[in-house]
Amino acid sequence: MANRKGHIPVRTCIGCGAKQSKNELIRLVVDPDGLVVRDDWGKGKGRGAYVCPSNSCWKSLQKEHILRKAFRREDPIALHSELHGVTWENGNKEAERHSF
Ligand SMILES: [Zn+2]
Repeated sequence: MANRKGHIPVRTCIGCGAKQSKNELIRLVVDPDGLVVRDDWGKGKGRGAYVCPSNSCWKSLQKEHILRKAFRREDPIALHSELHGVTWENGNKEAERHSF
């Protein structure tokens, strides 16, 4: 990759608080129903939040207070059910769904 240092914006993971280049993180937005969904194309409206593609960070998304803080919301907010079973293999951005 020919990306130069300093060119890519840095964002903070809402799960572990690590700062990483935007490209390494998954962008999340809140849909009109108050559900947190992936915003793979970066076109979602409103405030976005970022999370590492790692299982431990995604687990923290199931805690409402973390989501509220990340999106600065007072009203109910929850992870979309589609994202509940997402697991990650070492930094692989392709999500694999688990059926529980
Ligand atoms: Zn993280």
